[in-house]
Amino acid sequence: MNIILMGCPGAGKGTQSAKLLQAFPLHHISTGDVLRAEIASGSPLGKQLGEIVNKGNLVPDELMVEMLEKIVKSTDKGIIFDGFPRTVPQAEALDTMMQRLHREITHVIMIDLPAQEVVNRICSRRQCKKCGAILRVDIKNPLEKCSACGGELYTRPDDTPERATHRLEVYRNSTLPVKNYYQNSGKYVEVNGNQTPEKVFEDITKILEK
Ligand code: AMP
Repeated sequence: MNIILMGCPGAGKGTQSAKLLQAFPLHHISTGDVLRAEIASGSPLGKQLGEIVNKGNLVPDELMVEMLEKIVKSTDKGIIFDGFPRTVPQAEALDTMMQRLHREITHVIMIDLPAQEVVNRICSRRQCKKCGAILRVDIKNPLEKCSACGGELYTRPDDTPERATHRLEVYRNSTLPVKNYYQNSGKYVEVNGNQTPEKVFEDITKILEK
């Protein structure tokens, strides 16, 4: 199985990836995580990437494809693609790459979320520095520690209301066309993302077990 998890920012791709990893022997590639690790390393490339990512803009396609290919080649397992492809040229490059590597995308799962939910969700999102858990907090009464492990929580620099709104705009302009790219492939399925994470996971599992 090689699965593309699509969805707007905040749709729950990271949360569902974590659940899928517990249930299936898959390798998870979150391009957002890969970029954040490079930024955190403080390398010259990381500095350039930080300028782009922290403003909520997309990293150029050629760079993303190059980074992705290295990771795909490093594993024989089936892959969850989380946050890639985000543009039609990325989708085309992924097809070419997978063909060249004698692999195949088996499922394209769109986690669908109404636009009015997106900014709220993003602004209430926190991630644990220690265990990586993604949590939602009550903005008026935010948690200070991770409810899973007690670790320190942080807010991603691109999770402010202004940047979340901008990312949604970028999603509409650049990433939604990817939906059309896959829609007639026979691999494309939508799940309702406006449900509990457990129910979304149940729906995804049913699709994968068909
Ligand atoms: P995410 O963690 O998936 O929300 O990604 C965070 C940010 O990383 C995005 O807002 C983009 O700035 C950048 N990013 C992640 N994946 C890609 C991609 N496939 N192409 C371009 N930029 C990306």
